[in-house]
Amino acid sequence: MKYLIFASAALLFFSCSTAQQKPSKANKMEEKKNNPVFSRTNTDKVEISDEEWKKILSPEQFYIARQRGTERPWTSPFEQSEEIGTYYCVACGNTLFKSNTKFDSGCGWPSFFEPVTKKSILYLPDNTLGMRRTEVQCGRCKSHLGHVFNDGPPPTGLRYCINGVSLGFEKKGE
Ligand SMILES: [Zn+2]
Repeated sequence: MKYLIFASAALLFFSCSTAQQKPSKANKMEEKKNNPVFSRTNTDKVEISDEEWKKILSPEQFYIARQRGTERPWTSPFEQSEEIGTYYCVACGNTLFKSNTKFDSGCGWPSFFEPVTKKSILYLPDNTLGMRRTEVQCGRCKSHLGHVFNDGPPPTGLRYCINGVSLGFEKKGE
């Protein structure tokens, strides 16, 4: 009897732990399966319609990445993250920033002082909201990432203030 209780408890534990793991793995694969333009290696430019982006991205991702929206400050888990790895464009997979160029700017959004390469990012003047700012977009698919300012730390003196919703993260070694 004791053995039976132990066995069913073990079985219950096993089924709980697999039930917890399965959805996140499936979601991750699903995310890429539904996104024909996503690639961590292909650097060809991506030009598809908003209708197509709508099918690929979540409503929040679509609003921020394709309609130049801004996430509320302090809402991104990436803002405080100190994990080592690479940040990429959530829409197309293009490599954008390394974690060793991330710093705590205190502004409420994930902040970096340097992109991985010059081609990772596009720069556009943004004079909306009565301000002169420089918008930064993904160099591969032109998704809106955020803005760059001149008050960052050395060596660049730049602060790339980025919406966490526009980013994906790949842990080093994965
Ligand atoms: Zn992109």
